[in-house]
This record gives sequence, C-alpha cells and structure tokens, in this order.
Amino acid sequence: MFEAPMSPYLVPFDGSFRVSAASTTPVTDGHAHVRKHRKEATRNLNRLQRVLAAGDRHAVLLVFQAMDAAGKDSTIRAVMQGVDPSGCQVFSFKKPSSLELDHDFLWRTTCRLPERGRIGIFNRSQYEEVLVVRVHPLILGAQKLPDEVNLDTIWDERLQSIREQEEHLARNGTVILKFWLNVSKDEQKRRFLARLDDPDKNWKFEPRDVVERRHWDDYMNAYEQALIATSRPWAPWYAIPADNKPYMQARVAEIIIDALQKIGLRYPEPSAEDRDEFTKARAELS
Ligand code: ATP
Ligand code: MG
Repeated sequence: MFEAPMSPYLVPFDGSFRVSAASTTPVTDGHAHVRKHRKEATRNLNRLQRVLAAGDRHAVLLVFQAMDAAGKDSTIRAVMQGVDPSGCQVFSFKKPSSLELDHDFLWRTTCRLPERGRIGIFNRSQYEEVLVVRVHPLILGAQKLPDEVNLDTIWDERLQSIREQEEHLARNGTVILKFWLNVSKDEQKRRFLARLDDPDKNWKFEPRDVVERRHWDDYMNAYEQALIATSRPWAPWYAIPADNKPYMQARVAEIIIDALQKIGLRYPEPSAEDRDEFTKARAELS
C-alpha cells in the first residue's frame, strides 16, 4: 500500500501529535526552500498528472483544512497552477444543504471523490463534521440523526468512520494526502486587519470569522483529536506552517510530488495485440 512521504510536518501515526508543539513558522530555511522548489514544482506536477491520467489506475485526493485566512484558496491556486484543468477538480464544502442533511455525514464528500486518473481537491471536507460541528455541537440538532446524540462517543465514532473510509479508498487506489494549514492566532489577526484596511481585500472580510476566532482553543483541540485519530500511513496528515505563504505552498507542492513519484506512475505499455494494431494502422497510413 501507499507509503506516506516523509516531511518534518508529517503528523505521526502514534498519537503523539500536539498542536501546541506544531510550528506555524518554517522550521527549515524558508527562502532557500522556496527558491529551490518553486521553479521545478509546476513542471513536475504537470508531468506527473499526465502520467496519472494515462495510467488511469490511481486517483489522488488532496484535503485542505484550516482556520479562516490561513491560505487554503491561495495554496490550492499556487500548487495546481500549470496542471491540466481537465485532470483536476476542486470542491469547496460550506454549510450542508437540506439535501445533504438528508444523508449520512460522509455522503456529500463521497459523491465528489476523484475518479481514477484525476486529482481531486477538497477545500474543507468531511472533517468539518469533527471540527466546526464539534466546536458547535448545537449544529447536530439540524442533522436529523436517528438516535439521541451521545456527545461522549459521537466524535470518536465519526473519526472512526472517516478513518475506515480512507483505508478502504487507499486499498482501492486513491492516494490521500491531507494538509492542515497551521496559521497562528496572531497572523490570522494581521490578515483579518489587512482585509479591513485594504479596499481590494474588503470583499474577503467576513464578520462571522471574527466571531469564530473566539473559539480558537476549542478548534485547536478538535484539530488535535482529528489529526491524531486519522493520520495514518495510507492517509497522512501534514501540519504545514502557514504564517509564511510561499514557504507553505512550496512544502505542500513538494509532498504531493513526492507522493506521486512514490507510487511509480508509468505510461501504460501497449500489449502484443495493441502492437499488432499499430503495425496495421502504420501500414494503412503510409
Ligand atoms: P472563504 O471564506 O475563503 O470563501 P470558506 O471555506 O471559509 O472560504 P465560507 O463560506 O466563509 O467558506 O465558510 C464556510 C463555512 O461552512 C465554514 O465556517 C465551515 O466551518 C462551515 N461548514 C463546512 N462544512 C460544514 C458542516 N458539515 N457543518 C456545518 N458547517 C460547515
Ligand atoms: Mg470563510
């Protein structure tokens, strides 16, 4: 099965991960890293995506989760630039619709999983169900759950469902990489203030984000529990420092490229029958 790319930001699989020990700033020389990787990354990813599509055996699922203003959108933009748009797809998951609430909590993301040969990106994901919903358990009231909710067990049960689904997907050819863009509370404040101060950024300002910020510690606790329960060799989490955007983007790109290189993608070899067909076609054409 798939082997997780190594990185200083890989969330260990043994339960030892602590948000308080996860850095929001680069732990390696930021500038050197960005210079070295930016040029090659786009070219590499574009090439790997073409082989992925030609092989049509694996799908790639990239999950992005973060606090507001951590840079999910700009990272997705930066990492995927230059990749054939027909080979990838991005879905953003906001508050569930009534149709989505009529189904189990994994339904809406399951419907949007990438097919073989494609890169699928989740901007927010099923993990919201153990993050925002855990921080605001009143949301459960709208979820039409059949049994009385037991707040002592529901989060572990949901994390188990997510973990088991990911293991199933990985066994069946989906390469899963999950990125928590770890922005500091101070940097988030600076970015919110920039949205208020810069007229070109005003449109991004969302008063609700400031209210959500009051629950910072609860979110950190929910992230810690989620990452501990679901970072596994077949579906690793990476806690990427997000205070320096170019560095964050370079590290995300590097992990994706490393993962695609590891699965040994190759253009499909023509069979003996294909070769016979080629010979006939060549004869007819010449
Ligand atoms: P941006 O602000 O960059 O447009 P965003 O992902 O923050 O992107 P918003 O529309 O601002 O998008 O926020 C989406 C909101 O929906 C978030 O607060 C998120 O927590 C919430 N959300 C996502 N999934 C669920 C869910 N399953 N249940 C309840 N709320 C959810
Ligand atoms: Mg938002």
